Amino acid sequence: MKTIASHIDPSVIALALDQSFNAVLLTDADEGEHRILYANQAFLRMTGYREDELLGRNARILQGPATNPEVIDRLRQCLRDGTHFQGSTINYRKNGRPYTVEWNISPVHNTAGEITHFISIQQDISSLMAAQNTTQLFAHVLNATDDGVVITDASGTIEFVNKGFEKITGYGLTEVLGRNPSMLKSGEQDPECYKDMWETLKKGRSYKGTFVNRSKNNELIYCDETITPLTDQADNITHYVSIFRDLTTRILEEQMFREMVRFDGLTGALTRAAGELALEKAYMQSRGSKLPMSIALADIDHFKHVNDTWGHTAGDTVLKAVSCSMIAALRANDSVIRWGGEEFLLIFNGCDLDQSLPLAERCRKAIQYNQHEHAGCITLSIGLGELQPDEALPDLIERVDKALYVAKNSGRNQTQVSRR
Ligand code: GH3
Ligand code: MG
Ligand code: MG
Repeated sequence: MKTIASHIDPSVIALALDQSFNAVLLTDADEGEHRILYANQAFLRMTGYREDELLGRNARILQGPATNPEVIDRLRQCLRDGTHFQGSTINYRKNGRPYTVEWNISPVHNTAGEITHFISIQQDISSLMAAQNTTQLFAHVLNATDDGVVITDASGTIEFVNKGFEKITGYGLTEVLGRNPSMLKSGEQDPECYKDMWETLKKGRSYKGTFVNRSKNNELIYCDETITPLTDQADNITHYVSIFRDLTTRILEEQMFREMVRFDGLTGALTRAAGELALEKAYMQSRGSKLPMSIALADIDHFKHVNDTWGHTAGDTVLKAVSCSMIAALRANDSVIRWGGEEFLLIFNGCDLDQSLPLAERCRKAIQYNQHEHAGCITLSIGLGELQPDEALPDLIERVDKALYVAKNSGRNQTQVSRR
């Protein structure tokens, strides 16, 4: 039989085999014997045996307690059938230390087509297995945390996400592999933030920030995120690792709490503190835009009498109803502030006196035409004024308060306008 290598000096082939990086073992093909006829240097290094300790022996001397009997059975079957075998199991060195071997065994045929030998090419894959086990362990650890973990390559392409990521965002690993984390952008984030982030990351530094992302089911998720660039030995960025915590519940609770603080619990009007901010904002806007602005102070008439006659709880009910009627009677961008006990400050944004007087009157009439369970008819007295070009806010409030005083002294249930 002419072989491909027949033009090469057989001693070169022998040298090549002997110096091959992979371990090579040649056995005879005698049934049940398979005596070792040759082992190359890599094989001796891998097993720790000397050549004379191996020659004439069966390779089963390498097997031990952790050797997988199923793999060995399959190997024997292949030897019996004269077919190619590929497998991996644990073998033992001469000193008893185990290693993981992967081997390929092929039958060698003579010119008559009979199997005369078996050649086995082997490799110690212990360190590969250890690396694989470590990788599996890392993935296991990353999946054990509730935090989301995303690993991208240097171009930002997602290579790994953990179970925490799947739980927080709703996207599974296979849905995001090969995509970019920007797929989570909600559009609610200040673009400056991304600029800042990339500037920091490109310098090889970690970036911490709160991101408003969007989940698969289209809900906003607030994430406290730390992104860290990973570099190779030459300091080139190879990956980015992002670890984030879902703060959505906490942030929504905080928002709710802030809203609760902004609005008065009984009347639903803005609190005095929130109202002062709203007033300041309206004042600045009016000054900036040169658009007019009016305010009113509205005070319930003879409210003490309601309390004294029907009790404080009935008084509360009236107070709430009056506030709700005022809010309903005004436009969406007007503000109703609980300024004091039964006194409200109203802001009419963009309104001069001609525009705000009908609104104030609409409020007053809405209250007057309302009948309350015990208290019957309740009325409001209102003082109204428009901000003047040179006027400071406290002066406007004082003018409007004086107009309210005039309304009270002129028989109540009326709007008095302060003109300057
Ligand atoms: P006027 O027409 O002059 O405004 O008379 P008035 O009785 O409405 O005014 P006064 O200032 O004498 O009384 C206001 C009352 O409002 C006294 C206070 O106990 C009551 N009040 C203030 N805040 C509340 C509240 O939250 N609930 C109840 N039920 N009463 C309140
Ligand atoms: Mg009153
Ligand atoms: Mg009052």
